[in-house]
Amino acid sequence: MTVLALDFDGTMTDAEAEGRPFCVGYLEDVCALVGRRANDPEVMAIAAEVEADLIAAPAAHPFLWMGRAVAPATVDPYLRMVPIAHRILDRFDAFHGAADRGRLLGSVLYKYNYAKTLGRPVFRAGAGAVLRELAGREAWIVTNSDTHAVAGKVAALDRETPGCAWLTSRVRGHARKFDVDDSWTGAPAELALPGLERPVLLRRREYHDILKTIIDAAGATFADLVVIGDIFELDLAMPLALGARVGLVVSQHTPAYERAYVTAHPRARVIEDLAEIPGFAFG
Ligand SMILES: [Mg+2]
Repeated sequence: MTVLALDFDGTMTDAEAEGRPFCVGYLEDVCALVGRRANDPEVMAIAAEVEADLIAAPAAHPFLWMGRAVAPATVDPYLRMVPIAHRILDRFDAFHGAADRGRLLGSVLYKYNYAKTLGRPVFRAGAGAVLRELAGREAWIVTNSDTHAVAGKVAALDRETPGCAWLTSRVRGHARKFDVDDSWTGAPAELALPGLERPVLLRRREYHDILKTIIDAAGATFADLVVIGDIFELDLAMPLALGARVGLVVSQHTPAYERAYVTAHPRARVIEDLAEIPGFAFG
């Protein structure tokens, strides 16, 4: 029996559009911190320069978690804001202490501005139609986000496209896809991706355990599992290594090396249009 595990943020939602209030608010706050008005041209030019650097070389700009590179920073507007803020503060010679800066950027500004995105989900084209079409299938949402926050987004989607609400009870949140546990040997330690100098770390134990619980309950194995996500390294690499089929939902920010690897792999597929998902998983 095929079991489908869907990522949600960035996969069913348009992370760029949804994250816009976050990015606008965050940059306004950074302007204030360096003594400039909102939308100061010099600050905005630095932000644009960092965005361009990230797009030009996504492999060189990882998102670090517990001191390790666990994902590209490019794909997600929330993650991109961290190197942008660092460079602005560096140029203006502000907030030097690593601990102060970490608290300010990662905690205070992050939470304050993230709150501006709550309650206004922006879905990718066709998201509602796909979830409605999957009704009756063995499908789940497995997300790093809060379970109830994502269930709330699914409920909002159901108001736009009735027929999706059945998935609100099939959300497994707090999947901790960023966490790598070296002591767990249930997956190979690393995967080498052509075009990426650092290895992709596969020992994402918490995420594995959630997927395993779902497939065990269905009497299935990893060979029966299909995982759909928007960040290969975070969502797809570990399940692919354990035998699953995977679909990478791409955007303009998907690193070329991820797209190339997925295109070449016999159990993986690039998803340009969400309408391809039911056929890829169950067809
Ligand atoms: Mg995602």
